[in-house]
Amino acid sequence: MDFQFTDAEEQFRAEVQQFLAGQLPADWADRAFVGEVDEEEREELAKRVTKQLAQREWLAMAWPKEYGGLDATHMQQLIYNEETAYTAMPGGGGMGVAWVGPAIMLYGTDEQKQRYLPRITGGDDVWCTLYSEPGAGSDLASLQTRAVRDGDEYVINGQKIWTSGGHLANMGWLAARTDPDAPKHRGISTFVVPMDAPGVTVRPLVNLAGEHNFNEVYFEDVRISAENLVGVENRGWYQVATALDFERSGVGSYASGRRNIERLVAAARVDPTLVQRSPAARYELADRWIELQVGFNIAYRIPYLQSQGTIPNHEASVSKLYGSELSQRIASTGMHLLGLDGQVVPGSPHAKLGGAFARQYMESVSSTIAAGTSEVQRNIIAQRGLGLPRG
Ligand SMILES: Cc1cc2nc3c(=O)[nH]c(=O)nc-3n(C[C@H](O)[C@H](O)[C@H](O)COP(=O)(O)OP(=O)(O)OC[C@H]3O[C@@H](n4cnc5c(N)ncnc54)[C@H](O)[C@@H]3O)c2cc1C
Repeated sequence: MDFQFTDAEEQFRAEVQQFLAGQLPADWADRAFVGEVDEEEREELAKRVTKQLAQREWLAMAWPKEYGGLDATHMQQLIYNEETAYTAMPGGGGMGVAWVGPAIMLYGTDEQKQRYLPRITGGDDVWCTLYSEPGAGSDLASLQTRAVRDGDEYVINGQKIWTSGGHLANMGWLAARTDPDAPKHRGISTFVVPMDAPGVTVRPLVNLAGEHNFNEVYFEDVRISAENLVGVENRGWYQVATALDFERSGVGSYASGRRNIERLVAAARVDPTLVQRSPAARYELADRWIELQVGFNIAYRIPYLQSQGTIPNHEASVSKLYGSELSQRIASTGMHLLGLDGQVVPGSPHAKLGGAFARQYMESVSSTIAAGTSEVQRNIIAQRGLGLPRG
């Protein structure tokens, strides 16, 4: 089958591209891929772009109209996700749009909906997700952070880890244990926590590439109003596990991969010795290009399934697994193609392509861990896709 977008979808893609061209500096994507933007510039641009998206009602385009969205189709969401990843757009709806808002829509009170949702669609709050702990990642239900009811308040104590953007967020979406005696899945609740609440401490964690994206977050006798509980006490695990039917193709990793391969191809055209001195790298590049086509087809099929009323489950795991492992292979291919010089990191005058691939080689390591490890994805595919018994 020759996959085709409809005319209306192509028109929407052009509209998104035009918007991005108007918002982002012409050299933004190139600099962002190399890491040549400082935190301040990124944050300033992210705020501006986010506000513009909010004005267009694109920030939460997939949300129902009654909550400030546009009821966008799954395919429109895919196109938006693809184009914004290809241009490395900073800002956007982040976790607030992706899962905090949807959870509040499903489980929040009317008062919570009125308080939080317009601030999410307006781009006013930045959220972080406080799930993982030093002893609870893949087995998240083992989390130990406690929330103890005390009159009209809950008192939170514990530690979270790998909190992406915790240093930039003003709002936290927390999973904490409210009943330590219940079976582990049945004693967890979800809360909204202002990140400036007394007793919350955010400490930076620096990744392999020397960047500060995630954090440790400590809670020491943090008091929050009982009104910050979202949904039913002790039902938090089931609420976290339920997602609304939004686009889940993982197309972003393929869009970034495409830009990376295009950069390598452009470099090899300018300097043919790159491929001449290493025929294996030339074949590798061809292989990555093929894999990218496979990946896009996996990703494009997911919104199609959604548009037919199927909720993708193992299909989304296939895309996440394949896309994250492909991003690592593309980074390796870049390193092979660029030779020893490819290892020189950004900032050095000797760096090839600004050191982009040295950086990505290190950065992509975490892509097969974040949002569910490759082993966890393979387990899902084996059990739910192939019907194999649990291991
Ligand atoms: C870049 C990045 C950003 C992140 N952002 C956030 C965030 O914002 N908020 C948040 O809460 N968390 C975040 N995380 C945490 C992430 O969700 C966890 O790292 C992930 O779920 C894995 O948990 P873990 O690190 O505890 O590893 P573990 O679960 O301890 O896994 C260790 C190893 O054991 C394997 N393993 C575990 N269980 C099984 C099993 N059942 N079968 C086979 N193998 C298994 C894993 O695949 C892995 O190889 C982030 C992580 C990264 C890397």
